[in-house]
Amino acid sequence: MRHPLVMGNWKLNGSKHMTAELIAGLRNALSGVDGCDVAIAPPVMYLEQAHQAIAGSHIALGAQNVDVNLSGAFTGEVSAEMLRDIGARYIIIGHSERRTYHKESDELVAKKFAILKDAGLIPVLCIGETEAENEAGKTEEVCSRQIDAVLNTLGAGAFNGAVIAYEPVWAIGTGKSATPAQAQAVHKFIRDHVAKKDAAVAQQLILQYGGSVNDKNAAELFAQPDIDGALVGGASLKADAFTAIVKAA
Ligand code: PGA
Repeated sequence: MRHPLVMGNWKLNGSKHMTAELIAGLRNALSGVDGCDVAIAPPVMYLEQAHQAIAGSHIALGAQNVDVNLSGAFTGEVSAEMLRDIGARYIIIGHSERRTYHKESDELVAKKFAILKDAGLIPVLCIGETEAENEAGKTEEVCSRQIDAVLNTLGAGAFNGAVIAYEPVWAIGTGKSATPAQAQAVHKFIRDHVAKKDAAVAQQLILQYGGSVNDKNAAELFAQPDIDGALVGGASLKADAFTAIVKAA
């Protein structure tokens, strides 16, 4: 049985005040809620504050990015070891916003995956096609290429205990979520693709859906057999909406 994971990606949002308020609201609303793993990924600036604020709750800490270098002259970067040191566990890599705005390649994302595994952290590997690729019928081609960058360099075993988030780029922040049937079809494709290399690893792999998940569409998405939770952007900034999504899982 796979345990669903609902993770909030705060992106470039927050302040000390918001971090305190949001986490207090989540702790309150989620106390006693069981059966779903929960994580939040605030901006790196607020990780320490968030780490202290979630102490004793079952909310885990995540981060939105990591550098491929371990230490040294890399101005502005944050290493896997630093993330581990501060208590982060789930690290988002390959988000489409980083692939687009920071020109992150499949190869770079695969290196980040390896660095996280070496540090004992959990990679949350984001994959997904753009609207143009979707319309051109290239969804499966794009998703398999993005997964293969990791599969072919690290092997299927690297996905043991890892997470893949399928996030169609056209659904992110647009209010236009994939339908449960659309998402399920791609999730099944992804699981089958990994299963071709290792069926046991594929069976336990957590496959999150991401892209305009909210308190209204979450339950129907989570009812699909291959959707194991969600990576949530906009709706993770409101305690009530995020709580409702967690409860739906
Ligand atoms: P969204 O973002 O929920 O605001 O669409 C999801 C994501 O980018 O992870």
